[in-house]
Amino acid sequence: MNISRLPLHWKWFGAVALLLLVLIISINITLDVSLPPFLRERIRADLERDARLIAALSQRTPPSELNAAVHTWAQQTGLRVTIIATDGTVIAESDRPLAELDNHLNRAEVQSALQNGVGSAIRISDTVHLNLIYVAVAEPGQIVRVAIPLHEIGAITRHVRRTVAGVSLIITSIVLPFVYWIARRTTDPIQSMRRMAARVAAGDFAGRAPEYTGGEIGELAGTLNTMSQQLETRVAELTNEKTHLAGILASMIEGVLVVDAAGKIRLTNTALRHAFGITDEALGKTVLEVFRHAGLAELLATSGARELAFTQPSERTFTVQAGQLAGQTGVVVVFHDITRLKQLENVRKDFVANVSHELRTPLSIIKGYVETLLDAEPPDAATGKQFLETVQRHSRRLEALIDDLLSISALESQQARLDFAPVALPAAIAGVIEELNQRAHDKQTGLTLEIPADLPAVLADGQRLHQVLVNLIDNAIKYTPAGTQVRVSATLKNGHVEICVADNGPGIAAEHLPRIFERFYRVDKARSRELGGTGLGLAIVKHIVQAHNGRVWVESQLEKGSQFYFTLPVA
Ligand code: ADP
Repeated sequence: MNISRLPLHWKWFGAVALLLLVLIISINITLDVSLPPFLRERIRADLERDARLIAALSQRTPPSELNAAVHTWAQQTGLRVTIIATDGTVIAESDRPLAELDNHLNRAEVQSALQNGVGSAIRISDTVHLNLIYVAVAEPGQIVRVAIPLHEIGAITRHVRRTVAGVSLIITSIVLPFVYWIARRTTDPIQSMRRMAARVAAGDFAGRAPEYTGGEIGELAGTLNTMSQQLETRVAELTNEKTHLAGILASMIEGVLVVDAAGKIRLTNTALRHAFGITDEALGKTVLEVFRHAGLAELLATSGARELAFTQPSERTFTVQAGQLAGQTGVVVVFHDITRLKQLENVRKDFVANVSHELRTPLSIIKGYVETLLDAEPPDAATGKQFLETVQRHSRRLEALIDDLLSISALESQQARLDFAPVALPAAIAGVIEELNQRAHDKQTGLTLEIPADLPAVLADGQRLHQVLVNLIDNAIKYTPAGTQVRVSATLKNGHVEICVADNGPGIAAEHLPRIFERFYRVDKARSRELGGTGLGLAIVKHIVQAHNGRVWVESQLEKGSQFYFTLPVA
């Protein structure tokens, strides 16, 4: 049995019971050890006194009556009385006939009495065969010896011991239940506190320790209850805080990473996990293991903010800010995705460069011709006219370019409010065809229109739609050789109207198709300029169609012509 596993009250009870047992045993042992010698000594002293009394009496008794007197005295005192001459001869004896008695000179008590005046001995009597205590006193001419059986001592000892045992039993039977009661009363509150503490440790704060016991244990229970209440409040606060924090972290657009002092990842938020395609498996790993980015690891070591480009899982640029947590317990890193910003910046830079370039070319041409015209020696009238025509052509180009740029910027800034209204496509397309008819005719381009009679009207901004159609049909005329056929068709598809401008011209090589709708993108720059193109026509088409929630795309094969498609919502 493992004592340490016993309930506390049993331990206390056991300890007290053990103490009682030890006490009772020690009392018994003490009695056993000290009572018999004490009693023996008392008996010996009594016997000595009796012997002296008998000796005094025997002095006054005539020798012939001595034996009879001895019997009387023995009867009166309950002792065995023997009177021995100094040579060891027994003169009188109470318990046996004189004839049976041998010389007693060698008896230990007799020898000791002869030498010291008094002597005692304990032994089994040869004569009466009992364990006796003898006390002999020497008187002039005789030795008086008295004896008493020692079983008296045993009886007294046994009696005392029995009494003590009885009393011990009574005390024990009264004390032990009381001890048990005290032990229970003291340990029950401790047990209930222990149970309560275990529940608190498991996160259950509902339990309360009993405070009724009073004293130190009652106080302890009170303190424990207060502690539990405070803990409950604190845990609730922390849980709340944690929930808030988790909510904030989860709703953040920025990626958040927390690394502990050992350089191991402790926390990642949803945005970061999405951006880098990482899972909870990253927790506990190092930043280098997970991100494989030396710059990031370096930033973590130094703190601060830096722009970092990542190639995995996709090419992205982040402004990464690393800051030490309080007490140097780790680093918190915030990732701000600036990929789109960077792209926009690049687009803007490209655009500015392109615009400047596009503007400079006609401007320098105009400037050159105007300077020549203003020269000290002006050219002849015919050449002058030719120069002025060139200046006019390039001014028109500048004008077209600026018009297109304004269109683009209006569309992009979303300031351009589109006036949506139902538009009947056949009339709208016919209007454009008519407008471009002269140009088509000049290039011997055939323009045809194919529209089913039941085509519903589309919801569009009439002017913008007109611009889209002009740009697409004009391109089809411009970038195809003489004799080309241009076909404009419209069909109802999946709840949208799909419009197609198709030509059977030279087509566009596959490598250009993905970029054809970009601003200033041209397949053949020189040819486009020569034909008065700005490189913005298709970009404007794209913007307008998208502003109508439509889609625009191109299908083209070299030598087989191009088909430009766009969709518009049904009115
Ligand atoms: P541009 O002002 O140069 O015409 P666009 O954006 O309208 O600019 O067209 C971009 C380029 O697409 C043109 O320079 C031309 O090379 C090519 N392109 C447009 N339409 C056609 C077409 N129908 N056939 C062949 N190439 C075309």
